[in-house]
Amino acid sequence: MARDPRYDILFEPVKIGPVTAKNRFYQVPHCNGGGYRDPSAVAEMRKIKGEGGWAVINTEQAEIHPSSEIAPFIEMRIWDDQDMPALQRITDKIHEQDALAGIELCYNGLNSPNLYSREVPLAPINMPVATFTYDPVQARAMDKQDIANLRRWHRDAAIRAKKCGFDLIYVYGAHTFGAVQHFLSRRTNQRTDEYGGSLENRARLLKELIEDTKDAVGDTCAVPVRILIEEMLGETGISNEEIRDVVGMLAELPDLWDFTHGTWPDDSGTSRFKDEAAQEDYVRGFKALTTKPVVGVGRFTSADTMVRQIKSGILDFIGAARPSIADPFLPKKIEEGRIEDIRECIGCNICVTGDMTGGISRCTQNPTFMEEWRKGWHPEIMQAKGPSERVLIVGAGPAGLEAARALGARGYDVALAEAGTELGGRVASECKLPGLSAWGRVRDYRDYQISQMANVQTYFDSNLSADEVLEFGFEHVGLATGASWRKDAVARYHLSPIPTSKQMAAYTPDDLMAGTLPGGNVLLYDDDHFYMGGVLAELLVAIGATVTLLTPSVHVSEWTLNTLEQHFIQARLLELGVNIVTAKALAAVHDDHVETECIYTRARSSLAAEAVVYVTSRDPNDALWQTLKGRKADWADAGIQSIKVFGDAEAPAPIAWATYAGHRYARELDAPELAPGEVPFRREVVGLAAE
Ligand code: ADP
Ligand code: SF4
Repeated sequence: MARDPRYDILFEPVKIGPVTAKNRFYQVPHCNGGGYRDPSAVAEMRKIKGEGGWAVINTEQAEIHPSSEIAPFIEMRIWDDQDMPALQRITDKIHEQDALAGIELCYNGLNSPNLYSREVPLAPINMPVATFTYDPVQARAMDKQDIANLRRWHRDAAIRAKKCGFDLIYVYGAHTFGAVQHFLSRRTNQRTDEYGGSLENRARLLKELIEDTKDAVGDTCAVPVRILIEEMLGETGISNEEIRDVVGMLAELPDLWDFTHGTWPDDSGTSRFKDEAAQEDYVRGFKALTTKPVVGVGRFTSADTMVRQIKSGILDFIGAARPSIADPFLPKKIEEGRIEDIRECIGCNICVTGDMTGGISRCTQNPTFMEEWRKGWHPEIMQAKGPSERVLIVGAGPAGLEAARALGARGYDVALAEAGTELGGRVASECKLPGLSAWGRVRDYRDYQISQMANVQTYFDSNLSADEVLEFGFEHVGLATGASWRKDAVARYHLSPIPTSKQMAAYTPDDLMAGTLPGGNVLLYDDDHFYMGGVLAELLVAIGATVTLLTPSVHVSEWTLNTLEQHFIQARLLELGVNIVTAKALAAVHDDHVETECIYTRARSSLAAEAVVYVTSRDPNDALWQTLKGRKADWADAGIQSIKVFGDAEAPAPIAWATYAGHRYARELDAPELAPGEVPFRREVVGLAAE
């Protein structure tokens, strides 16, 4: 199909200094949890984006010096020549796809505790290092020699980057990461020399780094600046007006301006808190300050919104991190007139958790993310089917839907049996909760894809029993029957039930999502710690309940620290008047009140309640699997070669785990079993130095 002419503007080439981007799709720097530890996995991931049509593809931040490292977070490094082969592999892969390769050089400073290198952190002033944790480390104020050193390190890194083949070499000062921003902001720069005080002085380092970089590599490489356009820290932080002045001052110096707003949690807000194009108001008008191209982000997944950004003169490039993760082929799909095939980012920030936890990033929508090299998974291409023909998938939640879609794409005849009357499983329910509507995209993408496949049939109202599964006689059966929330306190704090009065009304998240709602004075006990407890507290407030959220954690929705949402969630609940009780577990449930237990002292106290909502843990819905497993002797007679359980029915976890499990099931069908002890993915092992 041809592309819609109204999207033509997105495919115009744009000059960036000495290089030219073939279109306006610009993958801004983003982390991936792999970094220097998994360079080939990173290189292949970036290459796939090139294949998907992105004109510019950037690395995550690349630390330019050991005094600027942010262990335990795993990013790129360009400390010395030893880091070059890994970076060279990335540029080679990007260039294979006729895209431009960019590197985000970064000197962290105030946010680099240097836990690995043990170097003393350097910053504009003496002050405690500020990261996501309270590292008990302070940075030393930089003297003139330190500033000269920093400039030299940046220059050397730029020269190395050019040798590695990069086409764009960044100067970076955004997200509260990096010396450039720390020098720019009055909060973190109270110097009295020529690098402090006036805006011109505070912008001096930025100006010098741009000039140094242009001088070192600017003949053939573009030098973009990534800068924050509002610190979002009230009076004391950098204001939008100040940055307009900076851009006015340095307007023509860099080859491109790349704008982000606030801290990383602001810039990468989840869909629960930020809409598409959320930074538009901050960015509007910046383009008029410079003739250089401007890029900005906004979790753009709609081609129409993208066109509006360009036509209304807000941006020249559509910057994207998460939309390019969820669908590396987004540009290609627009170009080929396949808008319906776009796998839209849902804004859940599971990808961010890979970086925050030191694991490796995964994506709810794109299970192949960071498996492109490790497992050879391509986001758009499934390998042809194996020798068998017919597969039954039981359960149409995210796991079953993804399995059916991916098996259909391989060419199997797939029957998808769903007990209920709609697709989506937990996603169909959860997307109706406050702030989670974008999560419905997990279902919508797969719904459309399987609707286009003649070889995938869906059967609703099909609550299958073991006898039925055996009677049908499919060669393979995949069980994705999900999980159900427990109606008791058993989770992490309590591993067995606590004393509970039957007089107290009790509810689970499943009850609330099905519309069975408590009223009055509700105690919500959250020993799950991800989003569900906080979201349900919002729901309960919305229906008029008085809500106490009790959790044994010290934070509400503790694990959302990893999705960058915790602060927003706690603020919202406080604003809604939710009574938040932390560091206390539920100890006993009586007729009209509950007893709590302090997690430190075990001291008891009591709270009045008319109903308890348990957001604790989930039981796998695995009865069908257990029965079928017990009847393994009948499988062969029924013509069944394999029955497997996957997704929440195997072990409950976030939605991203379910789409991954469904995809993996489809990939591995008819494949040889792993040998005992075989590692199920490729990895890179550190090369030993000579002794
Ligand atoms: P997952 O996240 O692993 O995909 P979900 O709980 O979202 O799990 O979805 C499981 C789906 O399986 C639900 O839509 C549920 O109705 C369906 N289901 C559960 N048991 C059966 C069964 N025996 N037969 C058919 N469908 C089932
Ligand atoms: Fe988007 Fe979620 Fe995927 Fe991240 S994990 S790219 S936020 S869908």
